[in-house]
Amino acid sequence: MKIDKLLKRYRIEHGKHFRLKDHDPADTHGLGSELKPQAKKLLADGVKELSLLQDVLAAQDRWGLLLIFQAMDAAGKDGTIKHVMSGVNPQGVDVSSFKAPSAEELHHGYLWRCMKCVPGRGRIGIFNRSYYEEVLVVRIHPEILESQKLPKPLVTKHIWQERFEDIGNFEHYLARNGIAVVKFFLHLSKKEQRRRFMGRLDTPDKNWKFSTFDVKERQFWDEYQEAYEDMIRHTASEHAPWYVVPADNKWFTRLVVAEAVVDALKAMNLKYPKVSGEQKAALAEARQQLENE
Ligand code: ATP
Ligand code: MG
Repeated sequence: MKIDKLLKRYRIEHGKHFRLKDHDPADTHGLGSELKPQAKKLLADGVKELSLLQDVLAAQDRWGLLLIFQAMDAAGKDGTIKHVMSGVNPQGVDVSSFKAPSAEELHHGYLWRCMKCVPGRGRIGIFNRSYYEEVLVVRIHPEILESQKLPKPLVTKHIWQERFEDIGNFEHYLARNGIAVVKFFLHLSKKEQRRRFMGRLDTPDKNWKFSTFDVKERQFWDEYQEAYEDMIRHTASEHAPWYVVPADNKWFTRLVVAEAVVDALKAMNLKYPKVSGEQKAALAEARQQLENE
């Protein structure tokens, strides 16, 4: 299987003509379930490669990588993050989850809480939800926007377009500072969400995952799909692409995400720092000292 071809299909860099309905949540790139073992092996290879690349990322200490995950409930954000990052050194990764903002967070602009969590050089940062909620849940529930304490004259019908622009500029700023941004929308079907919710109800050990709130949110399914589409149309860019990842089959979701992360790290053309002549001499001296013990 050609991995670059696999990725290309799901990567959106120019959103102008993007339509969500052109993307099938059940798509597996023609890989039938008979090829699942092969896909598992590919995922394992991807995870291994990721771990090797992360080591160079940290050693070189120039680039950083921010991975953003957005999705409807039960699309598999948590499981994907867990599997894809399973091989990496935990000391080099930070995962931040963004829930409804606290009173303190509401006192600031909406990027404030996220800015503090952007990864530094040499590190990978993962956002489990992000400032994109500001054009999703907030757009669908006007009462949330009202609770944001914004001065009235600033809340106009242009607010979503303004947010798209500000987010785009922020991501451009990060890219220009060496922090690459890659965004994932795990694209789940309504039918599969229902099946997963049912699974949470049927299995006692999964009951804790079930939230009646999620079922309420499901009633806004169409509004969410429209908001996601509009978000991708306005915020996909070459320096911060969206991946629209089919999410009805977890094994496939994980494979695409792992390959996309590997691809992003490879694009940095990472190299271990070169040891200077002076440093080499110091290393030789240290060796001598150890040998003389
Ligand atoms: P899981 O349910 O798997 O634990 P989750 O990401 O769904 O993970 P929740 O504890 O359910 O976590 O809460 C996240 C909720 O917070 C979502 O409903 C999301 O829409 C909401 N949220 C996130 N950011 C904002 C925001 N800026 N304003 C309002 N609500 C937000
Ligand atoms: Mg939830």
